[in-house]
Amino acid sequence: MPYLLDTKQLQLSNSLLQDSIVRRLIAQTSKGRIAQTYLFTGAFSSGKKTVATAFAASMLCKTPRNERENINACGTCESCRAVLFDSHPDLTFLYPIGSEIRVGQIREMQKSAALKPMLGDWRFFVICKADSLNEFSGNSLLKILEESPPHLIFILVAENERKVLPTILSRAELLAFRDPSYREIREFLCHRCSKDYSTASRFLSLSGGRQGQAVTWLLKNIPHQELPRLSLPDSQISYLNELEKISSRLLKKIEAQKSLEGLLRVFDDVSLVETHELSNARREFCLRLFGAPLLPASFPILFSGIFLDTLERLKNELKKNTEKIIKLQKENYPSALLKELEEGCGHSISEIVFTQIDAFLNYLCLIAKDMLYAGHSPEQELLLNIDEKEIIISALKFHGLPRVEAKIRLIGQARDLLGRYVNPGLILENILSDFGGRFL
Ligand SMILES: [Zn+2]
Repeated sequence: MPYLLDTKQLQLSNSLLQDSIVRRLIAQTSKGRIAQTYLFTGAFSSGKKTVATAFAASMLCKTPRNERENINACGTCESCRAVLFDSHPDLTFLYPIGSEIRVGQIREMQKSAALKPMLGDWRFFVICKADSLNEFSGNSLLKILEESPPHLIFILVAENERKVLPTILSRAELLAFRDPSYREIREFLCHRCSKDYSTASRFLSLSGGRQGQAVTWLLKNIPHQELPRLSLPDSQISYLNELEKISSRLLKKIEAQKSLEGLLRVFDDVSLVETHELSNARREFCLRLFGAPLLPASFPILFSGIFLDTLERLKNELKKNTEKIIKLQKENYPSALLKELEEGCGHSISEIVFTQIDAFLNYLCLIAKDMLYAGHSPEQELLLNIDEKEIIISALKFHGLPRVEAKIRLIGQARDLLGRYVNPGLILENILSDFGGRFL
């Protein structure tokens, strides 16, 4: 639970950007009419998991505060403290192993669902990325939903409701989260983290528009000195350096793991991979790339080569060290589970590499979209990179709206192809050949 940093986050009424959903949940709670199965859907980082946690916390709290028609978790009782430390016996989060939630995980959950609540009257299961349930795990979950006693509450969280089994969908109360504008998120961040508008803007932009990530960095009080204006080659070097650092951070944690489940948790810990320094370096490089009027003709091939080599080295080092631990732990697991965990580790390593390529393409796309906003409307509040609007506007002048629109389409197609395992080298070279206008 990387987002839970203080008691404010446990309070439903603090989920400012999802007012109507929060009001509905609070009304249900006060009337004692809560549903047994919820499906929270909405865009990435629209606050689904935060609201799920706050909702569970308010129901589990020993001394909930009832203020101005809000029912909030107190933040200090035994139950609230357990939620904050991610150790509440009656609040379980389920995540996919690799790209799927496996049937074995649902069976484990079923065992734990049979237990009585330990601290209060309810037991909550939050199933994250419920759109990654496969046919077997989905059907197995459906059975549990059909037969559960009323003290069990299931919250399924998914970006794409169309990928959730229709039989599950029909049993759940659907709550669709809205996608707030950048301006709203910035104002929320200022209020939530007590920061000025420009700091909030900078961190929102660093996070690629992800409010949960931005809150985490802002609350951690990361000192953020303004970086000197980097040239394109400098920003390229610092981006590649930051990518290199992922490996040492992960390896240090991997070596300390005494179980394969622990190993998987290391791979799932986004904060080990995506630091604000890495995000900053990626953002700077992408901005310079759009701002560069001329690029050497060899640039696309050279950069793609170094970028992918760096990621390949990362992958190999993670694999080598993971295999070492699997070898040592072999005796402690039944062979079916061992195979599943081994596969899970393989998936997670590939996912880390995939995510880095995708994050690069995604940031290029976010900047291109900023250029599009800047071109269509003078209202600069719509920009994600509002603190870099000079670069955005001058890049727009240079590239022109039709080319920017074409770029957004091209990057979208590239991300699609990447998801279908097309050679990433070709994809990157193709995208980068389209930058920099004229070539030297
Ligand atoms: Zn409490």
